[in-house]
Amino acid sequence: MAEGTNKPRVLVVEDEESIRDLVCFHLDLAGYAFETAADGKEALGIATTEPFDVVVLDVVLPNLDGMTLCQAIRREGPNREVPILMLTARREESDKVLGLESGADDYLTKPFSFREFLARISALLRRPRSTWRTSLPRDERTIVSLLGIVIDSVRHRVTCDGSDVWLTPQEFALLHLLMSHPGVVFSRDDLLARIWAGHVFVTARGVDTLVKRVRRKVEPNPNQPIRIVTVRGSGYKFAEAES
Ligand code: CA
Repeated sequence: MAEGTNKPRVLVVEDEESIRDLVCFHLDLAGYAFETAADGKEALGIATTEPFDVVVLDVVLPNLDGMTLCQAIRREGPNREVPILMLTARREESDKVLGLESGADDYLTKPFSFREFLARISALLRRPRSTWRTSLPRDERTIVSLLGIVIDSVRHRVTCDGSDVWLTPQEFALLHLLMSHPGVVFSRDDLLARIWAGHVFVTARGVDTLVKRVRRKVEPNPNQPIRIVTVRGSGYKFAEAES
């Protein structure tokens, strides 16, 4: 399907044939190339071997669910930083996608209009690849070690109290930004501008959600954070090493 053109390539993972066909029909009309997969395992096989420009991922899939697949794509392979648009069937699934488990960049709840679908795809494509990493200022050090966390922006690795921690690109960008400036308070607006580069779908609440996600991964007790601390009325900061 994707015959050596410069068309952006989309991986469409959807088990319902009628939706898959419609999605592909509209992608084709809009000038995209695409590959399809009808179940999670098949999709993982494709996603770990070929790079794509966007992945469209249904949440409920046979063999391997969309959330797990999303994390697997983020963990390794040629699509670690690919924008991922999740398709969800219900409100509860949307909450999950937005919440703790997902590394997705955006989501659409079914049924959706194809005009909206294509608008989301094109918004994701307009973001340069590696936005999260390239948006970090040059002066930020490549390895920062503070309060038990070591973050290495070149190898894109994080260890917390000696154990590897897996972070999504946004989570990584947040932690790296805060750790590069311990004690400096970043407002939600600062974080929106620095991490999402003004991406329209993200709100101040999205910042809080991201902070919560990172805390769950790097705080001994996420309800009483000692590393990423809230500065009431101002925003967030990484705690300075005890003096
Ligand atoms: Ca499904």
